[in-house]
Amino acid sequence: MGPQDQYLLLLLTCLLGPPVRCEEPHHQEEESQGPSPGPGHHHHWSYTDILEWDTDYPDCGGAAQSPINVDTQNTTFDPQLRPIQLSGYDLAPGETLELENNKHTVVLKLPDSLKIVGGLPHIYRAAQLHFHWGSDSSPGSEHMVNGHRFPGEIHVVHYNSEYKSIDKAITQPGGLAVLAAFIEEGPDDNAGYQHLLDHLDEVKEGGNSVEIPGFDIRGLLPQQLDRYFRYNGSLTTPPCFQSVNWTIFNQTLLLSAKQVGSVDNPEYHPDL
Ligand SMILES: [Zn+2]
Repeated sequence: MGPQDQYLLLLLTCLLGPPVRCEEPHHQEEESQGPSPGPGHHHHWSYTDILEWDTDYPDCGGAAQSPINVDTQNTTFDPQLRPIQLSGYDLAPGETLELENNKHTVVLKLPDSLKIVGGLPHIYRAAQLHFHWGSDSSPGSEHMVNGHRFPGEIHVVHYNSEYKSIDKAITQPGGLAVLAAFIEEGPDDNAGYQHLLDHLDEVKEGGNSVEIPGFDIRGLLPQQLDRYFRYNGSLTTPPCFQSVNWTIFNQTLLLSAKQVGSVDNPEYHPDL
């Protein structure tokens, strides 16, 4: 890729001005048909009752709810947007990380020495990353592009360094920045993913967690960090705070069929 591609950054029109309802009011179709426990029983939310989330979590009824379908016809090029720049992502093996199956997904906790230092209006510190992936019966990615859902999606969650902690930042506008990328099947193993995949067996059951050696977290993201969709949205799950500055990379991640198969495990999304 030459330097002429450097600034081909895209901006969703739905971030401009007052909240505009983007066309996808999140997951509304097939996933909402499961049994609903009804109001008052939502201490543990699940994907089967998405339309009820706002009973216990009022922000889930907000106008900037994520995820969205990126309609590329309705995106606007923004010459102000710069390439995403990362710092501290290459962790030494001596730095251990906690990998947890939290009964919704697999989460890797990250030290706050990992930072986004370019491409956003503030410095953002990393907190954790997690995955949304599918199974035979459910497609994986949360965001869509032109109505297309991908087999998987990675979210690397960061918080604005002007706040002392993610807990302080999470309710504030612009408090969080999530880097998102889509996962697809390709012909070859993705070496950047193998280290993490090797440990998935250890957290097969919900509630399990394990310490794993540090590795290059950068390898979990696409090579090209200069082309992306940007919009203001929310946490995609309760409590749905409308505080997320989203970056969805244009380049997808390719994992081999075997690698994708190793994460195609209903234990990683028991609520679906
Ligand atoms: Zn997520």
